[in-house]
Amino acid sequence: MQKLIFGNWKMNLSADDAVALAKTAGTMPIDASRIKAAVFPSFTALASVRAALQGAPVSLGAQDCFWEKAGAYTGEISPSQLRELGCSHVLVGHSERRQNLNETDDMVNRKIRAALDANLTPVMCIGETDDARRRGLWSNVIAEQTAKGLAGIAVAGTQNVIVAYEPIWAVGTGRACAPQDAREAHALIMNSLIEIFGPAVAQKNFRIIYGGSVDARNIGEYLAMDGIDGALVGGASQRGASFAELVAAAQK
Ligand code: PEP
Repeated sequence: MQKLIFGNWKMNLSADDAVALAKTAGTMPIDASRIKAAVFPSFTALASVRAALQGAPVSLGAQDCFWEKAGAYTGEISPSQLRELGCSHVLVGHSERRQNLNETDDMVNRKIRAALDANLTPVMCIGETDDARRRGLWSNVIAEQTAKGLAGIAVAGTQNVIVAYEPIWAVGTGRACAPQDAREAHALIMNSLIEIFGPAVAQKNFRIIYGGSVDARNIGEYLAMDGIDGALVGGASQRGASFAELVAAAQK
């Protein structure tokens, strides 16, 4: 099964810089039998990045969506509007949104339903704080986020949901989670998914990727772990050279 390498460009890069980076990403040597790459630029760059990626083996995703299809929701963007711009994926519940915008599990749940209704693959981000990890509560936190974020969701045969395990203390800090600890968290998430959806659906329709200070030096260690299906990468995906190194390392 292909490993997923997803680049979250966050609120960085001008539209022109995003296009330049997309052009680099589009020409990286990618063995499509081994990895599947996607980039998640700002909304403002989606259309131009889509054009820059034309014909390249790199998918397009957005960093968020709203849960309604249309209406009086000034400033929001619906999943179908993202599809219109060529997105196949959407991040939901990134820790920066949970922390800065008080996004709750209920909001995450609504966004995931809306994304699936529009045939987008949601990437549900979950992860514990530093405090929760130190107090030994990390497993409760991620089991709860998994259950609440996916409550009542019916995943049909061809639909996929990606869960990104992103311990908050590892995101953007340079303090990556030990690969063994990430593996343990992924196993726990898969157990939660099996409890909710049963083994057949959990193992076929869900993939679990790790995020938090991943770069070209450590990506191989994560991908070698059982149950780690790829990586969501912030900083190291935001410059052409480091993104290309990371993608090359992921294919070694
Ligand atoms: C992220 O933005 O999801 C992320 C994991 O960032 P970084 O790789 O910079 O830690």
